[in-house]
Amino acid sequence: MLKRTKVNNEIDKTFFALGTINNIRIFDSKKENVAEKAIERVAEIDNRMSAFKPESDISKLGANSGQSFQSIHKDTFQLIHKAVEFGDLSNGAFDITIRPLVDLWGINKKGSFVPSDFEIQKTLSLIDYQAIRLNPESWGVFLKKPGQALDLGGIAKGFAADEVKRILLEDGIQSALINLGGNVVTVGKRPDGQPWQIGIQNPLAPTGQYLGVLSASDKTVVTSGSNERFFINDGIRYHHILDPRTGKPAQNSLLSVTAVCTCSADADALTTALFILGPEKSLPLLSKMGAEAIFVSDDLTVTVTHGIIDDFKNLNEYKRA
Ligand code: ADP
Ligand code: MG
Repeated sequence: MLKRTKVNNEIDKTFFALGTINNIRIFDSKKENVAEKAIERVAEIDNRMSAFKPESDISKLGANSGQSFQSIHKDTFQLIHKAVEFGDLSNGAFDITIRPLVDLWGINKKGSFVPSDFEIQKTLSLIDYQAIRLNPESWGVFLKKPGQALDLGGIAKGFAADEVKRILLEDGIQSALINLGGNVVTVGKRPDGQPWQIGIQNPLAPTGQYLGVLSASDKTVVTSGSNERFFINDGIRYHHILDPRTGKPAQNSLLSVTAVCTCSADADALTTALFILGPEKSLPLLSKMGAEAIFVSDDLTVTVTHGIIDDFKNLNEYKRA
């Protein structure tokens, strides 16, 4: 975020959840309790949707894959449902059954290595969101293939950010900035009545150095990059966004993708899919979702979609998509 000058009536909360650092800024000093309520809600979502907590809905579904339907919480059910629909919309680029591949690659873990083609092919047979069965009457989910497991890491932060916004709005908050691990949601305008200014990170520079600035009110701005979690082997960068068609980290010239729309869960899933599809193939998906995007390639060329050109101030050269 640009210019972190603290305003007098500001509540500023930083907390850890969803495997990342989160920040909520509310410009109304009487609303401390609302901030606490929002933080509790994020923790609740984390407990239900984490792939790492043994008691979570997601762990329960993995443990019963190939066996039976499991009833889970409505929140998790509905987000899985949305993620499956997004699987169709993105032609399978976004696939929440990616978990076994994430485990195989172990990106971000110590001693990461490149798995053999044999292991990748074997694991790929489990990556198939169309094998997810949903029963809306019992909030039941069944992963048909034994060994399948889900990973909501590409959408849950966005959902949580939408929930924080809902809680803030319910309490009449008119100006706030939510950032759940890079999923930014702006509420209303800045306290001075101006639109929020969201910095677009230069993926090759230290945090806080921006390539451009996006002006946004009541929007979500979500960025995902290959420079956040990765390892390098033989000069190839292996990062955490995996292409379900190849079983490998998406290989293209992109360093980061930012999606801009009104629903943060949509924007979160979009960044993952856009990263895999690349700028040209992303345009039909963006228009279907009513979303805009900013693509940053490895030579730091910035490509901005039509609908936000006037809102984006580039600090470098940029191309139109
Ligand atoms: P970040 O977590 O850095 O914000 P993303 O929103 O792009 O990044 O989500 C990446 C995460 O999503 C990965 O860490 C993994 O858990 C999961 N993931 C990776 N590839 C896919 C994919 N093709 N479809 C759905 N989820 C994915
Ligand atoms: Mg994402």
